[in-house]
Amino acid sequence: MAQQTIQHTLWVINASARAMIFKSLDVVMSRLNNLFLANCVGDVNANFVIGAATSALAMPPITPAQYDAVVFLVGDVGRSLGPKIGQQVRPTTVSNRLVLGSTFMAGSVAGLAEVYWDRCINNEEAAGAIFHEAAHLKSGLADAMHTWKSAVPHGGPGLKVLSATGGKFPTPSWDDFEFYSNAITKQITVRANIP
Ligand SMILES: [Zn+2]
Repeated sequence: MAQQTIQHTLWVINASARAMIFKSLDVVMSRLNNLFLANCVGDVNANFVIGAATSALAMPPITPAQYDAVVFLVGDVGRSLGPKIGQQVRPTTVSNRLVLGSTFMAGSVAGLAEVYWDRCINNEEAAGAIFHEAAHLKSGLADAMHTWKSAVPHGGPGLKVLSATGGKFPTPSWDDFEFYSNAITKQITVRANIP
């Protein structure tokens, strides 16, 4: 059977992030596109080829396609969108400022991924945090994602941005890209609006 060529857009919706002098959403989006998603195109497995992967900063409502994802930027953890969908931020996330985002899985209903803009110290951390939460959302894996190992014959230096301490890594690894490319092939329900 021939491989199916699919496309992926990572939508980024600014829910309540405020402008900060040391961060620029334009730079964050450029980094997401050129460093992260541009490296997620190509063959995934016998069934799929990622023909294009890009990110887009958008105002809701968005019009997501079959293999897309959305991450919400919120100003701080106190403005988490979790409670809006009946879920709470983990206490360890509230207290630990090294945790840059949360992803709420919701079974068959649409999950929700969010990044805490105030906790991202610069554009590099913000881009990495968006990629990290999008990977949780698309893969459907919670903490299990952090310890994922690339199968032979691949296998790079291990996960960096997608590891539990992703915020420590300014640049991603090839294993991060491999995990994300695989996750793109999963279809999820994408929220078109801020809840
Ligand atoms: Zn994580």
